Amino acid sequence: MNLDEFILGNEPVIRLGFFFGILAVMALWEILAPARPLSVSKAVRWGSNLGIVVLNTVVLRLLFPAAAVGMALFAKEQGWGIFNYVEAPYWLAVVVSVIAMDFVIYLQHVMVHAVPLFWRLHRMHHADLDFDVTTGARFHPLEIILSMLIKFATIVVLGPPIVAVIIFEVLLNATAMFNHGNVRLPLKLDRLLRWVVVTPDMHRVHHSVEDDEANSNFGFNLPWWDRLFGTYRDQPRGGHEGMRIGIRKFREPKQVSWLNGMLVLPFKGKISDYAINRRQWGDGNED
Ligand SMILES: [Zn+2]
Ligand SMILES: [Zn+2]
Repeated sequence: MNLDEFILGNEPVIRLGFFFGILAVMALWEILAPARPLSVSKAVRWGSNLGIVVLNTVVLRLLFPAAAVGMALFAKEQGWGIFNYVEAPYWLAVVVSVIAMDFVIYLQHVMVHAVPLFWRLHRMHHADLDFDVTTGARFHPLEIILSMLIKFATIVVLGPPIVAVIIFEVLLNATAMFNHGNVRLPLKLDRLLRWVVVTPDMHRVHHSVEDDEANSNFGFNLPWWDRLFGTYRDQPRGGHEGMRIGIRKFREPKQVSWLNGMLVLPFKGKISDYAINRRQWGDGNED
């Protein structure tokens, strides 16, 4: 049996195995060597953040029972998308598809920060007062639906092999849990690893309350897009222990760490000066 058949034949086991395996490793690592002390109890945050995961799983199952794999199958049957149209070596189609889908996720992430209405959804991810493995899975159900629709559109254009979709989803899930870990790698190792994957130190910068830092390091999996497109930032100004995490105006645990507060977060508050059309602009000295 080749790798392809193995992945297709054991899809649920592979998905769950990676999810619980990496969750367990990161959870243990966070207990043994946490990078920062938590400000809200782990029981509360984990209950809410993992509660959101369960809720999102149910919502996705109900709305899109066939999910992304079903869409890839449909595109194949219809002959839609680049790789169902152009003859390409199979391995190349898999590699290019995984990289292309990751690029779309990067662009999507930039977009949800830039468009004020989408930022309302995405800020639930950022409102976490702490940064740990469960933050990586904490997204508002409406943002999850938006993500799935964007993924469907990507698949229709790309026509990726089914296996590429599974590899991409498992990889993104795994790296998101890794790079939200409340852990630190030795600086030298971190620097090396940053060339192939987004590390916890790299993504922590993105969770800063400072607007310019939060608008950096949008990558979730491959670290290249931030460097290529100019959104890369090496370290937070305040250092990893001194930096403040979250959103400045949402600091109340009841609102940002309890499930009911988190779910209504998109509908709270007026448009702030975080919105792209309200920001203070310079006097034309930008390059
Ligand atoms: Zn973000
Ligand atoms: Zn994040």
